[in-house]
Amino acid sequence: MNQTKYIFVTGGVTSSLGKGIIAASLAKLLQARGYRTTIQKFDPYLNVDPGTLNPYEHGECYVTDDGAETDLDLGHYERFLNVPTSQANNVTTGRIYLSVIEKERRGEFLGKTVQVVPHITNEIKERMQLLGNSGDYDIVITEIGGTVGDIESLPYIESVRQLVWDLGESNAIVIHLTLVPYLAAAGELKTKPTQHSVKTLMESGIKADILVCRTEHELSQEIRNKLALFCNVKKEAVIQSIDASTIYEVPNLMLEEGLDTVALKKLDLPKKAAPDMKNWNTFLSRIKNPKHTVNIGLIGKYVEMQDCYKSILEAFIHAGAANETKVNVVSIHSEYITAANINEKLKGLDAILVAPGFGERGIEGKIEAVRHARENKLPFFGICLGMQMAVIEYSRNVLGYSEANSTEMNEGTSHPVVNLMEEQKNVTDKGGTMRLGAWKCDIKEGSLAHKIYGQTSISERHRHRYEYNSSYVDVLQKAGLNASGINPNTGLVEIVEIEDHPFFIGVQYHPEYKSTVANPHPIFVNFVAAAVKAKRSK
Ligand code: GLN
Repeated sequence: MNQTKYIFVTGGVTSSLGKGIIAASLAKLLQARGYRTTIQKFDPYLNVDPGTLNPYEHGECYVTDDGAETDLDLGHYERFLNVPTSQANNVTTGRIYLSVIEKERRGEFLGKTVQVVPHITNEIKERMQLLGNSGDYDIVITEIGGTVGDIESLPYIESVRQLVWDLGESNAIVIHLTLVPYLAAAGELKTKPTQHSVKTLMESGIKADILVCRTEHELSQEIRNKLALFCNVKKEAVIQSIDASTIYEVPNLMLEEGLDTVALKKLDLPKKAAPDMKNWNTFLSRIKNPKHTVNIGLIGKYVEMQDCYKSILEAFIHAGAANETKVNVVSIHSEYITAANINEKLKGLDAILVAPGFGERGIEGKIEAVRHARENKLPFFGICLGMQMAVIEYSRNVLGYSEANSTEMNEGTSHPVVNLMEEQKNVTDKGGTMRLGAWKCDIKEGSLAHKIYGQTSISERHRHRYEYNSSYVDVLQKAGLNASGINPNTGLVEIVEIEDHPFFIGVQYHPEYKSTVANPHPIFVNFVAAAVKAKRSK
């Protein structure tokens, strides 16, 4: 096996520059040239994983097959590369410290003073090389969360410095992502923040090999020369990253700028073939030239922040492309939906998706939205909590169990149609204790789910504590709520659907996590198709 090569991506000037998208775009190009590439993210906060964070803090919590609760950037990595990630792809400072402190308690450092350098940095370095040492990858791209200069990023930056020293400059390089702001009053792009940010990096002993400069305007040759000279990088290593209309355009923009070729040259790797972007570009042209447009309501409670439903929004883009359709996602706050205003709120929609979520806030509005979709034959798709709401709605309004609820919302309900899973009953810790990751599901032949997946055995990712109460499955089945997907080992209902409806499906799992550019998720694809059909027949 050849030496695995490492590319570190750091960020300066401000946060939210899109390091994840740059890392994913570079990885896409390297993959398209024939390199086995993976991306990992190191986050500087003290939570052991983002599972305990409110989505308003860092956006959606993404879940991998192996049940890791991770940063949403891993979603971008999978969507771009179409290769599953795992716990090893996302490490937080909390996880590093937890592991070092556990080792200390076990006596693994017996006799020594345990310190940030070398113990924390060694742990970081080990984890940074974990995927690289597996032999599965030629190139490992590591995104360092946060901004250079932050106190909390220091151990990561020091670890990168050491790794570049350990591995050698042609085996490990650093890409620094910065902002080149435009001052409208002066009519100029400004390089100073980038110069300062590179200087901060140098104070930590790291020389940036490549600068990726986020900008709203084209960088002139003069600006590029200035950046190269003052930031001590080659001219060809000043890469412009101009605002794009879609994140899926960024790999092509990076290709034009030569980011992949500069990186390969620094790493002493051959360019191999020109990147094969044929399928990617077909996808892009489909997003850009849609034949239809549909309006799909996203009924949730985190609608103020786009990132909270990141994977769902991206899955709609993939499914839209598959249907040559532009999907306008209309965010609707479930807290403000009532029986009195539902027609008004859902006016003009061709389909609705009821979103995942936790806690009581906004659930009555979600139930009302399900009722509206069911009664008006509007295509409906419920995910996790959205599926549970469909079970409650059917129990209340079709069976007449007016008190039906989830015990998450009302512990004393006389009809707990959704209740805490058995294995959750003794769980008290909140971190990493939900039913997580990939589980199998058997699909009933002839069901809508069967038509959608084209197979009777699937595997999907989960993140929940409550389930459709098995004591109600028969009576609801008889009343017309078909439990069409069942976990073969536990009997847990994974999918519900209604036959006498153009498209009504609720799933306990999160299909959005598995939708990628190369493999748009079949439920999303069929749901968008149902919305197109619904619009046509209006
Ligand atoms: N709150 C619900 C549960 O824990 C649904 C979770 C979700 O939507 N991810 O089961």
